Amino acid sequence: MKFPFLGRVRCAYLGLLAAGYCAPFVLWEAPARADDGPLFEAVRAADLRVANMGWKLAVSNAPLCDRLEAGTGMQLHTLDQFDAAKRESARKHFGFSTPVAVEGVVADGPAAQAGLRIDDALVRIGPIEIAKLAGRPGTTDRLVAIQLAIAALPIGAPVAVEVIRAGAPVHLSFRPVPACKSRFELELDGGFGASADGSMVQVGSGLLDDYPEDQLAAVIAHEFAHNILHHRERLEARGVAYGLLAGFGGNVKYFRQTEVQADLLSVYLLANAGYPVRAPISFWQRFGPSKAGGVLRSRSHPAWRDRIATLAAEALKVEAISARPIIPASLAERGKPLDGDWQSILIRSR
Ligand SMILES: [Zn+2]
Repeated sequence: MKFPFLGRVRCAYLGLLAAGYCAPFVLWEAPARADDGPLFEAVRAADLRVANMGWKLAVSNAPLCDRLEAGTGMQLHTLDQFDAAKRESARKHFGFSTPVAVEGVVADGPAAQAGLRIDDALVRIGPIEIAKLAGRPGTTDRLVAIQLAIAALPIGAPVAVEVIRAGAPVHLSFRPVPACKSRFELELDGGFGASADGSMVQVGSGLLDDYPEDQLAAVIAHEFAHNILHHRERLEARGVAYGLLAGFGGNVKYFRQTEVQADLLSVYLLANAGYPVRAPISFWQRFGPSKAGGVLRSRSHPAWRDRIATLAAEALKVEAISARPIIPASLAERGKPLDGDWQSILIRSR
């Protein structure tokens, strides 16, 4: 499913997200349409695919993370996110009797187990009152504010939740579980990109259209590994502007080191979450020749054939271990400055 006329605001400038601020932009000016229902449901399904993969990775790998948050397994959305042309249509479709509603719940998460349902509108979660959160039409301010507040709830303690369902209040309670601190978001751009900014992983909707679940999980695991290894902070500590000039001059060695480290850790993240450890290899066998060869070759990333050789060697090691979770010794690297040595951890394809 492609998303040609979306009309939903996304977080644009990732660098601001760490401060809890999201600069709004509208991807497409959305023409009014008679029935937006099928489009809204396609977006919901895609959002939930990403949420489910992110959830599996973030919860099963909590023992590997030094920054945790309260995992609830709720995927939320706000009416604010929809541009003016789509807002009424979204209100009609999703209900939104309060400005923040449950877009969906991940399978077997605390929210699903407590009986929370799609399109429940949030009134209160623990001490957080939705009506007190400031929001502006055309922004994700309110969504980001509630995501940060929920992430900071105590882990393991029961949280009272009040929602409006079919016009009537419903009271529930769930117990958040430990999850690695990271958000996972679908970028509705139709693109084949994926990125990590330290606190969030974004994946382009083109990938969702074209790649099977295991291979998508491999892409998300690689980006998630950047966050777990604090690569953004460690690059900045080296004076390298993250995401800028990645392929030039003396910065290259630091970026390549982070890329190889993320590939190596991704194999463990996948194994711990129950995904096939060779999924990244399958991804690169397909993605490499079509999107990362010739003129598309990146200077900041190692060649895709070398990445496959490196991933295959690590998969062999992981396949020899049956216990889960595996906590790789390489995690100790995350407290050290980057030294730019990517050569000794990359295996050449020939
Ligand atoms: Zn990367």
